[in-house]
Amino acid sequence: MNRCELKVGGYTAFSATDYPGQLSAVVFVQGCPWRCGYCHNPHLQPRTADSPIDWNTLRATLARRVGLLDAVVFSGGEASMDPALAQAMTEVRDMGFKVGLHTACIYPVRLRNVLPLVDWVGFDVKAPFSEYAAITGIANSGDPARACVQAILASGVAYECRSTVHAQQLPPEQLLAMVAQLAELGVENYVLQEFRATGCADQSLNASSRPGYPNAALAARIAALFCHFSVRRHH
Ligand code: SF4
Repeated sequence: MNRCELKVGGYTAFSATDYPGQLSAVVFVQGCPWRCGYCHNPHLQPRTADSPIDWNTLRATLARRVGLLDAVVFSGGEASMDPALAQAMTEVRDMGFKVGLHTACIYPVRLRNVLPLVDWVGFDVKAPFSEYAAITGIANSGDPARACVQAILASGVAYECRSTVHAQQLPPEQLLAMVAQLAELGVENYVLQEFRATGCADQSLNASSRPGYPNAALAARIAALFCHFSVRRHH
């Protein structure tokens, strides 16, 4: 395998939920340096010598989907850690697809490099920036996260900012501190995603999850800070 090829760990052929309003294929890129307890894709955290899916094969599959799909979304793991991401994005753009990106806001320089190739980005903010380590397990991880948010907003690309909320990890005071930081930075489109126990390997997080958090009153306070706001709940 060519070492400069995108390392793909998974693939969803058709998705109506990964790029708003568009039918997309989702390419899950290998590799993430963070270790969030609520991660639903821990198998994608390591980058293996041979990735499970060959990019050239997948690219040929995507080429046959022209006209059936609107977009290709690069997700992860953390897609921006792959040095071949820009090349892969360019290849699917040249086929006529829109390009979506999911990012956890880990690599600001790499992110800035690919943003001109991206039509829409869904990005995660996990906590007040000073308290990222409690969730990611990595010291000072809030610093690159803030820089990435600033880069996305400055680029003018269409986006959705989202946070996964678990009542124990992000109690009301911290949740309000985080959303105040986001509003201050200029985030206008914001979604809170309820913690999802299914598929989460951290049993203590699962045991302490509180469905229905944040409640309606807290959600209403948060809604007032953003032009577009919603809570995504799992039932
Ligand atoms: S940043 Fe995302 S992919 Fe990486 S460990 Fe956290 S939840 Fe998983």
